[in-house]
Amino acid sequence: MDKIMRIINAEFGTFSEVEHLNNRFIKNRTKQKLTIDAISPRNKFQVAYQILIRELRRFFPTIEKHDCSLDDASYLMHKGKTKSGPLHNFHDIIDVLHVIEHIMIELQCSVSLMPICSGITCQYFEPRTRYDIFVEAVQKNVAAFSGYFAVNLVKSIIKHGKLQPKFQNMLVLAKFFSKNPSLASSIKKIPKSAGFSLDVFGPAVSDLIRFQYF
Ligand SMILES: [Zn+2]
Repeated sequence: MDKIMRIINAEFGTFSEVEHLNNRFIKNRTKQKLTIDAISPRNKFQVAYQILIRELRRFFPTIEKHDCSLDDASYLMHKGKTKSGPLHNFHDIIDVLHVIEHIMIELQCSVSLMPICSGITCQYFEPRTRYDIFVEAVQKNVAAFSGYFAVNLVKSIIKHGKLQPKFQNMLVLAKFFSKNPSLASSIKKIPKSAGFSLDVFGPAVSDLIRFQYF
């Protein structure tokens, strides 16, 4: 089976050693760290990239407005090409990882309601196919969820060529639980107040559990 990429580690912590890499990081703020191995060859990511961008523009229109430029160290390897946002032409696999970083940022803002959030994507020297993503986060469960959600969303778009509705359902539910945390412990009552039918709600809850929201 084509796995495309794999999360090999997920951690929540301060990671102050990376704060100098992005001058927008707030000192000592907690972050979600993801270590990811790219498994598919560069060509597979390149072929899928335009579809990925198209779907993300539709699903997360505000990503285009994220402030992202050369002081984002993940771009240093692009040798001075100025970019105004995270969605741009494909240069290398790191562009896909960087998109994952911005989906995670988007979730901290829309689910945890953080007014400002920054991140960084780094590539290892050895192995070259390994990457670390750090994204500021204040709620440990949303932080972990955002990582699993973003990686699986990108993998799913690459695999299926379009966005699967289950990701939209998951996001609606994650936002609902974050606004109504007391309801998370009595989920039998939720479908009506969340506007979900039971056949959509059950799988969405299972997905949230799988992606470590609970
Ligand atoms: Zn960026």
